[in-house]
Amino acid sequence: MIDLRSDTLTRPTAAMLDAMFRASVGDDVYEEDPTVRDLEQECASRFGLEAGLFCPSGTMTNQIAIKGHTEPLSEVICEQTSHIYLWEVGGIAFHSGASVALLPGDRGRVTAAQVAAAIRSENVHYPTTRLISLENTHNRGGGSCYDWNTLTEIAELAKRQRIPLHLDGARIFNALVATGQDSREYGRLFDTVSICLSKGLGTPVGSVLVGSQDFIRKCKRIRKVMGGGWRQAGYLAAAGLYALENHVERLADDHRRARRLAEALETAPYVNFVLPAETNLVIFRLRDGLTEDRFLAHMNEHGIKASAFGPQMVRFVTHLDVDDAGIERVLAALQTVQQ
Ligand SMILES: *Cc1c(COP(=O)(O)O)cnc(C)c1O
Repeated sequence: MIDLRSDTLTRPTAAMLDAMFRASVGDDVYEEDPTVRDLEQECASRFGLEAGLFCPSGTMTNQIAIKGHTEPLSEVICEQTSHIYLWEVGGIAFHSGASVALLPGDRGRVTAAQVAAAIRSENVHYPTTRLISLENTHNRGGGSCYDWNTLTEIAELAKRQRIPLHLDGARIFNALVATGQDSREYGRLFDTVSICLSKGLGTPVGSVLVGSQDFIRKCKRIRKVMGGGWRQAGYLAAAGLYALENHVERLADDHRRARRLAEALETAPYVNFVLPAETNLVIFRLRDGLTEDRFLAHMNEHGIKASAFGPQMVRFVTHLDVDDAGIERVLAALQTVQQ
């Protein structure tokens, strides 16, 4: 099977498993796991920030950051299709008791003017704006990347207004590889960044939240109350360190493969439109008459899995476990779709 449903579906490579087997470990609740410490420090320094916190999932790193930045009766500004709002089970309300101000983005990206208009003035009726959260690359936006100017403008606004700025960087390395932006510069703009190791980087488990020393200390308590204090997690952290060393530059291959799929889809008679494939996600709409179920059944018959992404919508995700030969098989299957 060629599995294009998600980049979370990758299996660790033999070399990654070997690095995991060889990890030095200790009890991380005692702060005695050297591999976890190395991973947290490596992530923090790559993003020009002081400290990191290794967690089981990106939902957890996002929700811990949101809880750390906000309080009940406050509000988070984010895009209306952002992962933190749409796909984290309403966790902002549940964990943080906070409201959300939702902005309509351009493929998930918002502008500084939109953010400025959403910041609440002092008024007894309003929640207090306590956090601005961006997503880069943007999942629902089809792996779209923010340009540096927009990020800088939003960060300057956030600093002027003294509102913390969080980045859901589940696929931040895809954005860095696609745009050539410097990860260290992100630490000048963002107070916290959530990084997923289990997406394009191909580890079995794990995300890291990076931020200031003080903020991460606070977040460690929040992780603990969520039951996220873990023990010899160094085996998992070793996979993360291995991935940072070996699986970042290769994301360009995933992007090249996604573009090949997007180009084929653009000329397919049964496709209505394809969102620009900037990174490893390809989101497209089927013309009326070919339902997503029928399209996915056809692909499945050819040994290819993909996800429905709403009525008539489909998402393909390229990743470590799909090579050029796999892409050729997908291209062949796309040629025999019955309209
Ligand atoms: C996958 C993802 C997350 C985190 O997902 P987990 O499955 O909880 O690790 C967060 N944000 C975005 C944009 C994602 O795509």
